[in-house]
Amino acid sequence: MTAASSAPSTECIGPERPGGQGLDHNQEESGNLAIHKLLTSDDGRAWTDFVATARQAQDGSWAYEAWALRGMVRWVRRYAEHGYTYEVVEVVGENPLEAQDHRALSTLEEELAAAGDPVDIQRAFVEPAALTYPYAYERISQLFDSPNAPDLVVNPKSYTYGRQPGQHGALDVIQSRSPLVFSGPGVRKGVVVSAEARQVDIAPTIARLMGFPLIDGRDQTGRTSSERGLAPDVYLQRQDGRVLEEVIDPPAVKPERVYIMLLDGQSHAELLYRLEDLGAIPNLRRLIANGTMLEHGSITNFPSITWPSHNAIGTGAWCGHHDIVNPSYYLRETRETVSPQGQQFDTARFLGPGVETLYEAFHRVYGRWDGETGAFTASINEPCTRGADHASLERRLVGDRGELIVLTKETEHEISPRWYNELEEDGHRLQGQIDNRALAQARQLFLDESHPAPTFTFHEFAQPDSSAHDYGPHHEGAREALDETDVRIGHVLRTLEARGLLTSTLFVVTTDHGMATQDVSLRANPARIPQRDGMAAVTTEPLVYLRDLHVEVVVHGDGRTAQLTVLDNDAEPSGEKPPVADAEILVSDHRDGKVARVITDANGVAGISIPADLEPADLRLAIHSEGINSRHMRMDGTNFALDLRDVLYGS
Ligand SMILES: [Zn+2]
Repeated sequence: MTAASSAPSTECIGPERPGGQGLDHNQEESGNLAIHKLLTSDDGRAWTDFVATARQAQDGSWAYEAWALRGMVRWVRRYAEHGYTYEVVEVVGENPLEAQDHRALSTLEEELAAAGDPVDIQRAFVEPAALTYPYAYERISQLFDSPNAPDLVVNPKSYTYGRQPGQHGALDVIQSRSPLVFSGPGVRKGVVVSAEARQVDIAPTIARLMGFPLIDGRDQTGRTSSERGLAPDVYLQRQDGRVLEEVIDPPAVKPERVYIMLLDGQSHAELLYRLEDLGAIPNLRRLIANGTMLEHGSITNFPSITWPSHNAIGTGAWCGHHDIVNPSYYLRETRETVSPQGQQFDTARFLGPGVETLYEAFHRVYGRWDGETGAFTASINEPCTRGADHASLERRLVGDRGELIVLTKETEHEISPRWYNELEEDGHRLQGQIDNRALAQARQLFLDESHPAPTFTFHEFAQPDSSAHDYGPHHEGAREALDETDVRIGHVLRTLEARGLLTSTLFVVTTDHGMATQDVSLRANPARIPQRDGMAAVTTEPLVYLRDLHVEVVVHGDGRTAQLTVLDNDAEPSGEKPPVADAEILVSDHRDGKVARVITDANGVAGISIPADLEPADLRLAIHSEGINSRHMRMDGTNFALDLRDVLYGS
């Protein structure tokens, strides 16, 4: 392969791997109708912040859009010297993504002020006007790079999703901010830095601190270093993020191992608040004192949800590149909805082949653990698993089961009984037990003499998430969950200290997403609106996959007859769009006079004759098929679709 020119290109770059995601010409009518319903129905007005999509014009070019009642923005992306650059090409009304400051609402005080300082902390609802959407163009555009991506992604208002007091998933800064701390060898000590950070920056920063070699891997644009005309310039096979130079202490020694502690769903603002109480969370405090904390945290994947976000942290690649685009998503080719987060176990197979996990990178550099040599890696209750030697969510458990039970019992008394007594879902009620068992795994992995201490450990602490969902992020119950998690972190630190490993270990403390207070009285679920309103769609919130017809019209040379072909717009694994038989096609003239009614055959084909007094462009087609959105179009192939600019903004 010859090296591509590194000269800047003016070409607009659409989805990296097109496979039906976003809206094409066949989806202009249904896509615009769905956006209209999402924004203008009574529920849509109350619940929806904006709807985003990638849209392909008839000439094949792509642009990205976000539509809100207050206005819309359209942008394109192009290759830049590093990664992509994003250019706004249209704004009507107010640009809903204009505010992108990653520093906004970092503290509890700021968040509550943005919510109007409510008397009841459970009503700390923040309106879109008071929010920001950090890295909005990048984070939306990347989603549509995967063929698993939806046609539309719906961003609820920050307080309008579901029936739990705490939620996340949206693009806004509250739901997207994770705390981020690096601590240990190679890291600046006892400082707070104000740096722009995204969760895909964690993996390359770890690789850099560990002294991994630069490789000819792919950057955010999906092109290798050599394809970009450069010497090896990334640390991972796919690296969307950058090295956070701001946390690195250049002359310092290299760490010997890495331990990521992921406090699922822990609010950055709440962590800062808890740190103000000098007697609280002593173990996290100790880690922070020995490292660098990012003042404004780090911005996570979009959607800001567990499975996609964990895998973004573990691979250094956004979900549109690692392909677990949501907890649940639809595979168009096989007409199948999969739910990695629902099944919890054995989900490594969903991770795309185009990315490299940190476990795989550690093994690439240090060798596979073969019982005598190589590095040993561990995934402890962590949704990113591929390549880990110990991976509890892949049912690969290393260590003696009897010893594990003993270790589990040792710390069982530290589980607060309130989780079992008060929390709602079964999974949440038992979260204390689950995290306690994970702690026992962690201790055992560092005590077990049958293998070396793990060179890389990725450990999920789920209690903060369960409690913040069920109580709300600012509730005293969520704070107690952080305190209990800190006790578990203390056990990990003491175990490493006893083995003489503490000072040579690099710790990373972070989360997969933020958490926002919800107005549970709304029982809101904006993404469901189109389907609930009768549209043919597969909804895996916040993603909407429309079920549409591909229609081709060929007017024969004599201008008197035309052949219509109706296909399912979603291609099968072969790449072919399957024919739709028995579709009804009504042909009318511009006065709505009925001209013909035909039915497609097994090949999806029907023929009609064109009256001698009419031009093809005068004829209208209405195509209906059970279970798929109807099409209304002219014989010349143009659609009858809502003009969103007109119906939403009168422009
Ligand atoms: Zn989570």
